[in-house]
This record gives sequence, C-alpha cells and structure tokens, in this order.
Amino acid sequence: MTQGKVWLVGAGPGDAELLTLKALRILQEADVIVYDALVSKEILCLLPEEVRRIYVGKRSGRHAAGQSEINQILLQEAKAGHKVVRLKGGDPFVFGRGGEELMLLAEQGVAFEVVPGITSAVAVPAYAGIPVTHRGSSSSFHVITGHAAGPDTIDYEALVHLHATLIFLMGAGTLSYICEQLIKAGMDAHTPAAMIENGTLPEQREVLATVESLPKKAQQAGLQSPAVIVVGDVASFMESLSWKQFLPLQGKTCVLTRSKEKQAALWRKLKARGARVLLLETMETAVDEKQQKPFEDIVEKMIERTGQEQWVILTSQTDVDAFFTLLQRSQRDIRTLASVRFAVVGSKTAASLHQYGVRADLVPPVFTAEALAEALLKIVEPAAFAYVFKGNRSSAAISQALTAHGICCEELLLYTTRSVSERAAAPLVSAELRRPDTYVLFTSGSCVEGFVQMLDPHRQSDFSQIQAVCIGEKTAQRARQYHMRVAVAKQADTDSMIDLLEELSRK
Ligand code: SAH
Repeated sequence: MTQGKVWLVGAGPGDAELLTLKALRILQEADVIVYDALVSKEILCLLPEEVRRIYVGKRSGRHAAGQSEINQILLQEAKAGHKVVRLKGGDPFVFGRGGEELMLLAEQGVAFEVVPGITSAVAVPAYAGIPVTHRGSSSSFHVITGHAAGPDTIDYEALVHLHATLIFLMGAGTLSYICEQLIKAGMDAHTPAAMIENGTLPEQREVLATVESLPKKAQQAGLQSPAVIVVGDVASFMESLSWKQFLPLQGKTCVLTRSKEKQAALWRKLKARGARVLLLETMETAVDEKQQKPFEDIVEKMIERTGQEQWVILTSQTDVDAFFTLLQRSQRDIRTLASVRFAVVGSKTAASLHQYGVRADLVPPVFTAEALAEALLKIVEPAAFAYVFKGNRSSAAISQALTAHGICCEELLLYTTRSVSERAAAPLVSAELRRPDTYVLFTSGSCVEGFVQMLDPHRQSDFSQIQAVCIGEKTAQRARQYHMRVAVAKQADTDSMIDLLEELSRK
C-alpha cells in the first residue's frame, strides 16, 4: 500500500474568501480533514460531502483531543494511505502548534506539505480598518501570545521600547494583566489600543480605547475570545478606516438551499455584498441517461419538420443545461436546429441559453410558466409544434395550456431532481438558523421541502423563527405552510432576491 500524505493548511481567520487558492484545491482533493474550533462554518460548508471530517478542537473549555492524540491521528491516517488535511485557523505556524504536529511525521518518514494561511494577527485588524504598520506611526509589528502572559515569559519593557505595534493573540482572558504590565513597563497610558472579537465574521465586534481604558471598555462591551488586541498608534485608524459596515449585507448570514451547481453564482454575489454564506444543498440534479434515445428521436422529428414552425420550451437554467448536454452527447450541435425557435421562462434562463450561443425568441414579461404559455399562445400558428423539455418536478402548466389550444405539444423529461436527505453541513447550519441576522434563501418549493426534511425528518420543529427569502409566490406558499417568516422577491429571479435581502437588512 502506498503511504498517504499530510497537508498542514491554514484556513485564514474565518471569512471563506480568505482561504488561499491552494488551500481550496487541497481541501477538494482530501480524503480526510482534521480541523479545530477556529475553522469557520462558512469554510466547513464548502468541504466536499464525501470527505471524512475529524473534529479535534476545544468544546466548551475541554479539549476534544489532546495534542499527542492529534499527532497520532495524522500519522495513522497518512500511514493508511489517505490524503490528510490538517486544517487550522489563520496560519498553521502562528501559534498553531503546526511545528509540533509535523515533527512526528518527519520522524516517521511521512510526506507532508505546509500551506500558509492568512493569519488573524494581520487580517483581523485589517477587517477593523487597522493597518499594522503605517509610515510615521509604526515601522514594525510584533505578534505576541497573551496566553502565557506572565512576568517570566514576556519582556514587557522590551516590548514598550520598540515603540511599535503590539498584537496579542489569545489575550482575551488576560487583557487586564497585559495592559497593566505595559503601563508598568513605561508605556504611555493614553496609547491607543483596540480589541476585535470574531474578526472577519458576521459577529465581528470591536472596541477602541487606550491601553489604560481598554480592559474596562472591552468588559462593558462583553468582548470575548477569539479576539485580537492591537496596542499602538495605528489602532486609532479604526475610527477613519473601518470599512466593513458599509457593505450592504455585512453582519448577515445567508443560507443557500439549492443544488450545488446552481449555488456558485449566488454565493459570489452575496459574498461581494459582505454576507456570510452557508451552503446547505437540499436538492440534487442529474441528467437522465435513459432519455438520450427519446431525446434523439425528438431531434430527428425536428429535423424532419424543418421549415415548419417549431418551438423548444425551456423553463429553467437546469433545463437549458440538460438540453445541451443531451444534444452534445448525440454528436450534434445547434446548427441542426437552426430553424427552431426557443421560448424561455425568464431572463436568467435566456442568459443561460445565450451562453450556448442561442438567443431566446420569446421571454414573457412575467417569469412564470403560466405567463410563458400565455405569451406563446398569442404568437404561435395553430399548426406549430412545441417541445417542452423539463425535469421531474417542473410544472405541466405549459404543455397543458398549449394542448388545450390545439397545439401539437410533446414533453420530454431530461433530468431528475431529488431531495438530499443528509448533508454534513446540516448541524452547522441548523445552529445559525434562528438568529435574527440569518436569512434562508429558497428558489423553489422543493427546496423548502428538502430543507425542512433535512433539518427535521419528523417535521415537528418550530420553524416560525426562520426568515425565508423566497424567489416567488409559489415557493413562499410552501414556506408559509411551515409558519416561516416569509419575504418574496419582486421578480422571480435571484438578483431580485438579493435586492430584497438588501432591503431587509436596511430595516
Ligand atoms: N494560527 C492562528 C492563531 C491561533 S491562536 C492565526 O494565525 O490566526 C488563536 C488566537 O487567534 C485566538 O485566541 C485569537 O487571538 C486569534 N484569532 C483567530 N481567529 C480570530 C478571529 N476570527 N477573530 C479574532 N481573533 C482571532
């Protein structure tokens, strides 16, 4: 058996977009991920479903696993031939005991790599608007552990003589002691000092004071660990350079419930607005292999009917993707269907279609299946042919309406969407759901059902605290059935859902 390998990876301070590209690639390729408490939920939601997760962090004060136990886990997993990621908050070599974890591997001849991460020592001040160095104010910064704070281990006089930025990690519990010692060692009691709790996360809170008043102010504000303490003139930049609060969705958590392929674009847009985004895939979509032959039969018919009025009807981006997947597999391309017209349900579906080089010939003014049927009926000749390509959960409204008006209409199922019953992220997400700043986004009634089913198979829970942001009225009706608090987007698309979120968070 070939031996595995260990990657010691820094996850950054919390915001998932502060993962490095290398960290993300390695996480996607891992067999097992050994992580601790500082790895954020947003990042844990990005891990592949199949990967095995081993939690070794602290929980409510006690160690879930001791250091030697962690070292053993890494060794055994690697010896068993696995690709092991040891994922740590921030940078693995900054107070991360990363070195200790690698020693045993080195002794035992197990291969490893180190992937540096963005350390909270620098990134957390940055998210509060504090540059750790600044020309004229501070020409060096020093990262110090507050954990071992004691007269023997830290030379406070030496620190004060530096006239530099002092950054304490793990200092929330010893804040008063640290500040006292600095003043005792000769630091001006009015030196600016800041404490930032949960930096880069929606819960980020910060206090700006002086080295003398910080302990009291931090206590009044109730700041706790994890927190970064910054002492030095640069701390006062927080007043003028703080930027995070200007992002429209800052402080908000958005839970995405649709299928994985469809979440990516929405994820990016929400992140761009400052939200934390937790992924909880409740639906899975798969193109139905068995439909290749029936699909090709329909394409043959379309070719035979060249010259007559023919319409392909697609009511979602998934329809479009599935249609072109099957067309490509049939060894043909869109030129075979040059004279066929395309009707789609909305602007997003039209945009997807355009990505395959086809412009939609018809998009109804309102983005619903009913409106599409109505718009079609206004323009089609009675002798026209219509082909509705759909998924197992799509509405039958269009075919019904067309058939009722005597149009020859064929339906073909291209893919199936089914709910996913279990996801590793479910418990993580569930803990966030009832917070006032959390919104759950639903793009279909099936997503509502899948979500409820996954969180509570018995459907006994109280969902009345959940703030559902729904794409349209039908989805909203489902959410109301579970007594969720419901808001509905004006137009049935995801951009309109984002507008709604911004509106809700302004309130
Ligand atoms: N390797 C980590 C540090 C581990 S020590 C890194 O490079 O960031 C743990 C300490 O890091 C915490 O006590 C706290 O001081 C700091 N820390 C980590 N993440 C933080 C966050 N999101 N907000 C504030 N402090 C954080």
